[in-house]
Amino acid sequence: MRVRFWGTRGSIPVSLTAADVRDKLARALLAAAGRKFESYGEAQAFVAQSLPAGLGHTYGGHSSCVELDLGDQEYFVCDMGSGARAFGAHVLARQGGRPATVHIFMSHMHWDHIMGFPFFGPAYVPKNKLFIYGCHDELELAFRRQQDAPSFPVPFTALGADIQFIKLAPGQANEIRGLKVTPQVQRHSGDSYGFRFQHQGKSVVYTTDSEHKLEEKSEAELFSDFFRDADLVIFDAMYSLADAISIRADWGHSSNVVGVELCQMARAKHLVLFHHEPANSDAAIDGLLRDARRLEELTRDNFRPPRRLEISAAHDGLEIEL
Ligand SMILES: [Zn+2]
Ligand SMILES: [Zn+2]
Repeated sequence: MRVRFWGTRGSIPVSLTAADVRDKLARALLAAAGRKFESYGEAQAFVAQSLPAGLGHTYGGHSSCVELDLGDQEYFVCDMGSGARAFGAHVLARQGGRPATVHIFMSHMHWDHIMGFPFFGPAYVPKNKLFIYGCHDELELAFRRQQDAPSFPVPFTALGADIQFIKLAPGQANEIRGLKVTPQVQRHSGDSYGFRFQHQGKSVVYTTDSEHKLEEKSEAELFSDFFRDADLVIFDAMYSLADAISIRADWGHSSNVVGVELCQMARAKHLVLFHHEPANSDAAIDGLLRDARRLEELTRDNFRPPRRLEISAAHDGLEIEL
């Protein structure tokens, strides 16, 4: 299974500003002072290998959209944030005119998780099939309503694809074309649902827009069971721990530190920090990643047997092969 991140920012999409680009360019020119590049390829290699961390890189970007590529003819994706536009273009290009079937798993219907759907190309193409899964009663309503006048020019009823909404029951495992998926209710305004996916011996947990109160033992145990031995945990790490327990307590999101602690309890293998705070710069997100890795290093040996947890920060375009 290959996990492809099309949208990784929380709450609202953001892009680099002109000032951000100028800052990166100026710092890159300083880093390259005195060097001579004979070709574009040499310059690319320098950017990839030798620039200080973060300069040749950005976290972006689009709001939540994460594809699970099972190597199947059909497509599997979590959430329809603004990253769904680029994901849809990828589907149409790969299909080359052949009908597509896309399975869409919805954590919840806050706007940042559905806003990409009106721009999701495959929804407009007759003979395409879309299955939209979720646990909320208002799942279908939320998709239809955002395309109603005066909010959008194309009503939901004008979409060409065959679109079906399928309600899943929390805590119950489902089998969809060989992919096992189990939803878990999470603490968030109006509730959200995490999904545990299992396929050919690999497991991925997609758990965004979820606040955790680890001091409540039963809750900590519930989520460490949900994450148990997962190969990959895609985790809402919108805040730093200080923010999460002070000014932003009860805002329905979690932190890098809680992600590390839950993954350690669950003996998960790889934590991906996700749903980045829109106000955070690349440097701030790099800082959260650094802090999470440091905490993991310091606490690794408290577990028997000690085991390293890999930690990454998601960015648009990141791919992880399991
Ligand atoms: Zn969100
Ligand atoms: Zn939300």
